[in-house]
Amino acid sequence: MKWYSETPESVLEALTTNRISGLSEDQVRQRREKVGTNQLQTAKKEPAWKLFLKSFKEPLVIILLVAIALALASAWYDFKVTGNTEHATASIYEAAAIALIVVINSGLTFHQTRSAQKSLEALANMRQHHMHVLREGNWVSLATQELVPGDIVSVKSGDFIDGDLRWLKTAELQINESHLTGESDAINKDTQAVSEDTELGDRSNMGYSGSMVVNGNGIGVVVATGMKTELGKISSLMQGIDDQKTPIEKSVHGLSKKLMMIAAMIILLTIGYDVVKQLMEAGSVSLESLAGISSTAIAIAVASIPDAMPVVLSIVLTIGAKMMADQKGLVKSLSSVETLGSTTYIASDKTGTLTKNEMTVTRFMANGRIYDVEGNGYTPVGDFIAEDGQPVDEADYRRFLEVAVLDNEAEIKSDDKQNWRPFGNPTDVSLVVLAAKQGIKRDALLEDQGNRDIDIVRILPFDSTRKMMTVVIKENGQYYSLTKGAPDVVKNRTTTALVNQQVVKIDEVADEIETTMLAFANSALRTISISQRKVTRDQALNAPSEVLEQDLCFLGLVGIIDPPREEVKAAVNTLTTASVNVVMITGDHAATAKAIAKRLGIIQSDNARVITGRELESMSDQQLAEAVLTTRVYARVTPEHKQRIVKQLQDHRQVVAMTGDGINDAPALKAADIGIAMGINGTEVTKDAADLILLDDQFTTIEKSVESGRTIFANILNFMRHELTTNVAEVLSLLLGVFLITAPIGNITEVTPTLTALMVLWVNMVSDSLPSFALGYDEPEADVMKQRPRDTTQSILANGMLRRVLFRGSIMGAAVFIAFIWAANQGFSVAESQTIAFLTLVFGQLWHVYDARSAKTLFDRNPFSNSRLTLAGGFAATASILVTLMPFFNQVMGTAPLSISLYVGIIILSALPTFIISGIKKLIGWARNRQNDPALVE
Ligand code: ADP
Ligand code: MG
Repeated sequence: MKWYSETPESVLEALTTNRISGLSEDQVRQRREKVGTNQLQTAKKEPAWKLFLKSFKEPLVIILLVAIALALASAWYDFKVTGNTEHATASIYEAAAIALIVVINSGLTFHQTRSAQKSLEALANMRQHHMHVLREGNWVSLATQELVPGDIVSVKSGDFIDGDLRWLKTAELQINESHLTGESDAINKDTQAVSEDTELGDRSNMGYSGSMVVNGNGIGVVVATGMKTELGKISSLMQGIDDQKTPIEKSVHGLSKKLMMIAAMIILLTIGYDVVKQLMEAGSVSLESLAGISSTAIAIAVASIPDAMPVVLSIVLTIGAKMMADQKGLVKSLSSVETLGSTTYIASDKTGTLTKNEMTVTRFMANGRIYDVEGNGYTPVGDFIAEDGQPVDEADYRRFLEVAVLDNEAEIKSDDKQNWRPFGNPTDVSLVVLAAKQGIKRDALLEDQGNRDIDIVRILPFDSTRKMMTVVIKENGQYYSLTKGAPDVVKNRTTTALVNQQVVKIDEVADEIETTMLAFANSALRTISISQRKVTRDQALNAPSEVLEQDLCFLGLVGIIDPPREEVKAAVNTLTTASVNVVMITGDHAATAKAIAKRLGIIQSDNARVITGRELESMSDQQLAEAVLTTRVYARVTPEHKQRIVKQLQDHRQVVAMTGDGINDAPALKAADIGIAMGINGTEVTKDAADLILLDDQFTTIEKSVESGRTIFANILNFMRHELTTNVAEVLSLLLGVFLITAPIGNITEVTPTLTALMVLWVNMVSDSLPSFALGYDEPEADVMKQRPRDTTQSILANGMLRRVLFRGSIMGAAVFIAFIWAANQGFSVAESQTIAFLTLVFGQLWHVYDARSAKTLFDRNPFSNSRLTLAGGFAATASILVTLMPFFNQVMGTAPLSISLYVGIIILSALPTFIISGIKKLIGWARNRQNDPALVE
């Protein structure tokens, strides 16, 4: 059926649905069974086995596979050539053990990647589009996947359309459907049937899936869903979740690559060195010693690859995203987790984010008199008191209040217990409540009143660029255009005013109105002018807003209180301490904005600069660039201005988070480093453009997300510090063995490696990875929100990280080597000496992890506050001792049992380097001038 060439009635009939009650649950169920959910098919997910096999492409795994091959070759050689079955068996064991570790490692990686993916998917599911749908006679907000053909939906500016619609009712409805037609301008929609051969772009009574509602509102009936929509027909498969690498992931990958190159060079050098040495000493290279050196080379290879780093990294970022979501901050990509931590400017809307959005009119001016309004909240009870002390006069405000509720789409409703609840735009709600306090209600006005007949002709909704709303009515055959809006905007369009029931020239009262408006604004009240105008029938039906909103007659002015949120003040304070600048951006009057900014601690004095939208317009980029770093309040701005503010801040290399709630805010949100949308009151379009969605619309959630971002980043640095330090230690202890042991000592020969390849593997997989992983879960350090934001232009190795890693790694590596030489000198066996080296390394690391845990020193954190770390450390320590005791591991890893006193001695002595270095650092830190940034003390 060509829906666009039919009348609304026949479309409804064809779809067996009802305009008044919508579909019933039964109908919905039946239709869903037939047509499925309203979803485009997404790209098929990678099957599990593919994901599993992927891990075999990791460099470490490839090296291990090579090691397995070498061990098997050596076993074969022993069986066939030397007949040394004992050695051959050992080689086979070794191959089996490495294979087992490969499988376990791949399994673990696979499991973690999968669970990370799952939580990302869960997060993705939390941000589905919603639409208003009529079901069983009630309007409900549903995820758009639920829609079926025949559903009646209502849309308003800022909504996404999911599913193809035939419009049944439209009011100034404009839709952007550029994704289908390429036409970037918004298209006007109505309900008139068009001819059958109309092109898609001209079907003005249809709304197509994937379009945006740019203006007005409308009601439509769903005619097609899912792959049956026009979008579905042309869409290739929709992209899955965004798994692009974050900046830090990229730099860690780069770092890993570099490390691997270095490792390869070290290995070649080692082998080359050994070959040359043998050639010089013996004149030839023996196969046996080549085998010896290649097992050392494998150990070095295993030692030098920070294998766990990329995996742990993406897991830690996912943990971060989940942590933020638990605190009501929903991020869309892992990069945002990282970026949030480095945010330097937060530019926030005022209304609803910094304030409660519970608006109440407390004062108004009408007929030249000023009134105070009593009563709280949405309950329509409260007296008016004239400020001049004279008796109130209904004639002063009757027309003013009528216009306030007619030029309005909000409502209040009460339950049986007389609890009043607001519906619609909070500003408009406050006017509805105000009028209801005098018994004036829109519904009653629109009902037939015998001698008086009022009908709504057109609605031109509020938008934050115009800052006005206009409704055209027909009253007893005469047309009126009713306009309310920001007083300074309306002022220029006003020619007359109603004072003492007389229409006077605006000049006579302009000063008085201005003074009153400023008085309202200075006491933090939001102000709105209310006015009307007689228009011709033709103007009423056809004139655009520019024409209707002219030549107005001023009726009055309201002052609306919108209390600041109490918790915001503390959050602003915390952010300021954290060197994050909070900026207020509002469409309200400068004086209102300033008053509220001061109450919230965003500015300290009344002299603080406020830039208004008008000033902004007259400023050059250069001028704005100079002002933007110090300005904390922008007033009377339009969404377009936000983009300029973001850009100028970014030109100063600032990382900008920006909130927005209306459809016009989307470009600014995209431009910001972190676009923030409101989960409850935000439009679908802004939610789509945002990087962070505040599920509770609270400013404090931004602050918490910044703190989480910083914590995550600090944890990443901590575990990288740990991983890299141990890598340096492992490689160094092996290299020292190769280069410094030139003659046999006790039982060891010059080819005996300090550690066996499997010991190194154990260290990497168990005693190193597990605690590193636990570091990712660490709670924030006490001072994360006292430091400056991270400089994103700096490499992760900056700020002493590289020095710290090299220094500590070298000391730890040297300690391992010294322990090994000591054991050899004492006459311990090869296995015992290597075991002593092994345990020195394991415990050296386990002590070090507590040092790596802090940007400062070991002594700055409670060592037991991370229970995962305690568990991982305890497990690693116990297991590492067990593998020296159990014969099976003795066989495959080359470990040997030691005496009790040795175990105790190693555990204690291996703590020394970390405690001494950290202790010295702490002392230096104390001694240094307090002004020094503690994070920079190495
Ligand atoms: P913000 O979101 O920063 O509060 P808005 O764009 O919502 O700014 O409002 C800007 C100004 O527009 C307000 O100060 C008020 O004067 C006017 N205004 C706001 N809402 C309405 C409305 N529903 N009808 C008419 N005027 C409005
Ligand atoms: Mg607003």
